[in-house]
Amino acid sequence: MEGRRTILIVEDEPQLRGMLERYLRKEGYQVESTASGSGLRSIMARSKVDLVILDLILPDADGIELAKHLREGLNTNLGIIMLTGKGDEVDRIVGLEVGADDYVTKPFSLREFLARVKSVMRRVGDGASRARTPKIAEVVRFERWEFDLLRRRLVDPEQKEVTLTPGEFSLLKVFVENPGQVLSRELLLDQTRGFGSDSLDRTIDVQVNRLRQKLEIDPKNPRILKTVRGGGYIFAVNLT
Ligand code: CA
Repeated sequence: MEGRRTILIVEDEPQLRGMLERYLRKEGYQVESTASGSGLRSIMARSKVDLVILDLILPDADGIELAKHLREGLNTNLGIIMLTGKGDEVDRIVGLEVGADDYVTKPFSLREFLARVKSVMRRVGDGASRARTPKIAEVVRFERWEFDLLRRRLVDPEQKEVTLTPGEFSLLKVFVENPGQVLSRELLLDQTRGFGSDSLDRTIDVQVNRLRQKLEIDPKNPRILKTVRGGGYIFAVNLT
């Protein structure tokens, strides 16, 4: 079926894999699944995948390495949700070097899982539909950075392109659309995910930190994305 979104499940526990597969199919998604990293590679090579559900620990591969590999791939608009166990280093997973859009800790409810899937799909889908619409490029500039909202391109002052995950893109987009305004975590979550949830507050902090690592000269002492005590965050420089 043309136009259906494709989700690839990479999970070595057969029961969980089967359950997620059936559930997502019932929700109308096209679903592929594999138990291994090598399976992931071969499916990615032959299918157009919109979202990868990636288990952190696989028999033949490290989920973190696989996520990094996916992020370096051609499909910059790919969503990645990591499945983690209790006690896993979640900061590393949603953290800087990996670029997953979200994570779900086992055991999780199918409802929670679906909410994450839908929210990442929304962001990924947003990019796909934008890319098909030929519009005049919407480019904003700040501090010698260039951010092309249509092409989802961020270029640094040295003219080097900086890769953003779909989550980072959505977040930076909200910031540049609201410069000089204090944006609460709640609002940022709402704008980037499309639904409200208190428990995900930390994810916004992690995503802001990731953006800082990419944008700021000194991420510990940010000039562009500042923290407002008790308030949230503010895009603190002017757009030019
Ligand atoms: Ca596993």
